[in-house]
Amino acid sequence: MSSRVRILVAFLLNLGFSIFEFIGGAFTNSISIMSDALHDAGDAISILVSYILEVKSIKGKNNYYTYGYRRYSVLGALITTVILIIGAFFVIISSSIRIINPSTVNYNGMIILAVIGVVVNLVATYVTHKGSKLNQKAVSLHMFEDVLGWVVVLVGAFVIKFTGFYIIDAIMSICVSLFILFSALKNLKEVLDLFMEKSPIDIKVIEKDILSIDGVKGVHHLHIWSIDEENVSVTLHVVSKLKDFKVVKSRVKEVLKKKGITHVTVEMEEESEKCESTGCE
Ligand SMILES: [Zn+2]
Ligand SMILES: [Zn+2]
Repeated sequence: MSSRVRILVAFLLNLGFSIFEFIGGAFTNSISIMSDALHDAGDAISILVSYILEVKSIKGKNNYYTYGYRRYSVLGALITTVILIIGAFFVIISSSIRIINPSTVNYNGMIILAVIGVVVNLVATYVTHKGSKLNQKAVSLHMFEDVLGWVVVLVGAFVIKFTGFYIIDAIMSICVSLFILFSALKNLKEVLDLFMEKSPIDIKVIEKDILSIDGVKGVHHLHIWSIDEENVSVTLHVVSKLKDFKVVKSRVKEVLKKKGITHVTVEMEEESEKCESTGCE
């Protein structure tokens, strides 16, 4: 199945399911099903956003977007993650209100809905789980949480059926939301690190490798960043002991290539030369 079809299937499943859950949640008076409904509505929006941005991200470079549009994929991950976090907060607040003001739920209805929910969401997880990019990871994470959400509804419904402990419905939806919140915050940090141009590699390690090259006297203005977590760029100034820069330069590029860095800009300097660049002291 192509990724476009996979995303479309996931979008339609979530949209359809969220409507189904809103009705089911109202019918059973279950806050955990209502939470899932909200969660799925958020997922449907997220999937659409990340799909549009993922398609945009593969567009080539132009006169202004000199790296191409690869960061649109990261932007998709950011939006998706933020939707997830807002949804989790919303559920935690409404579930807390339910704990303060408990009300009865239709547990038999919950059991039927939960069984359908687990099956449908497992299928959706399966069709979207491939792909390692942040954006795809965020979508797949949503799907997995939906399965978890429904398992919780199922367990909760059985507990209510046998013990009459109604607030378990709200307690469990808070637990699921906390779990979602935790993984979403972890994802958010990864995405923000990219936007903040944090180096994906410890630059001391790179610096050491370059200094150990025969003919290299020093290295400075070493900057490493990534546009989309897959392509790593570097700029650096290398002070050469040799008059023949070409040899040293190709050795530097070789070392960086071994580290997976292929977008390299090197400025070569002679030992006696005074570096004029400023801005990163
Ligand atoms: Zn610099
Ligand atoms: Zn320099």
